[in-house]
Amino acid sequence: MSSSINHESICLPITFVNELSKSKDLPETLDLISHWLPQIIDADRASVCLHNGQEDTLEVYALYGNKAIQANTILQIDNTMVGRVFQSKTLEINNNLKESQDFDCRILHEGGLNSCMDVPLQKSGACFGTLNLGSLRENAYQTQHAVLLECIANWLANYLHAQMEITEQKKRAETDPLTKASNRRCLTIVGNELLNKWQSDKQPFAMIMMDIDNFKHFNDRYGHNVGDLVLVTFSQVINQVIRTYDHFFRVGGDEFVILVSGNVDAAEKLAERIRLEVAGMSVQYDIHNLHITISCGVTSAQLQDDSLESIYNRADQALYLSKKNGRDRTTVN
Ligand code: GH3
Ligand code: MG
Repeated sequence: MSSSINHESICLPITFVNELSKSKDLPETLDLISHWLPQIIDADRASVCLHNGQEDTLEVYALYGNKAIQANTILQIDNTMVGRVFQSKTLEINNNLKESQDFDCRILHEGGLNSCMDVPLQKSGACFGTLNLGSLRENAYQTQHAVLLECIANWLANYLHAQMEITEQKKRAETDPLTKASNRRCLTIVGNELLNKWQSDKQPFAMIMMDIDNFKHFNDRYGHNVGDLVLVTFSQVINQVIRTYDHFFRVGGDEFVILVSGNVDAAEKLAERIRLEVAGMSVQYDIHNLHITISCGVTSAQLQDDSLESIYNRADQALYLSKKNGRDRTTVN
């Protein structure tokens, strides 16, 4: 498809505009943008970078064409052209990547590209990312290309920003603010998805329920803040131990659940690993080294389970037995 540029109009493929207006979520919108951009402005590579929360980094979120810099790469704002464009909110063209000292430009050149152009994505004066184009040709981009890309970026920024807000709100609604673990509402969503897969394809999954032993003691003896510190430290340990395809939730004060892909043996092993890891760590507070233990209850999805609740209740019973039999142990039900 040929690109059309003049000072009065922008020519956009109708399919792009249609697909964009129907896009369901942020990843789909990002993919659409990187897919269609090279068909509007000549390019061998297109990507969208978004600012990574509090960090001084940008992440390559979508990519089309040349893979000199891969999707999901984290780029420092320092020493990169994309970082400079992000910070100064000013577009840049580099038509001779071979000579560049910028980290990202050097990688692009090593990957075969010779020109690139980055423009900021802004909403209400705040920059939240960049659109990036690259070409195998030297001297590929002139001012009129940059004007066009900037104009498209300003238009797309509205879509992207709205979807980022929705994604953020959804995440907040499903996250426990103290420990950053997913909350009970999220457990219901993820648990029911796993239950559906179990019922349709017999993909096994298991549940570990965990409760900190004598947690009230930390609150009573050292104060609520120290109790909070214990909860946060415990959650950090869990996140280090579980695999990316397991899901971790805070379901109550000191009560947590892990949904494990796999059978009951895998879940029991994981529960024991976590229990021993927690027993071996200490939470530093002032001059104190606080030691905690946890009790676990483990069960797996079974043929008769027609609701998440029945699995939850079985895990809860197992946890109850661990408490009753002396705490700091795992029971399988
Ligand atoms: P057990 O071994 O039987 O579990 O004893 P326990 O002391 O841990 O008893 P329980 O699980 O009932 O205690 C939970 C306590 O957690 C009670 C509540 O005051 C406290 N709690 C609930 N949410 C929070 C929180 O966000 N922060 C802090 N610091 N404490 C909390
Ligand atoms: Mg407890």
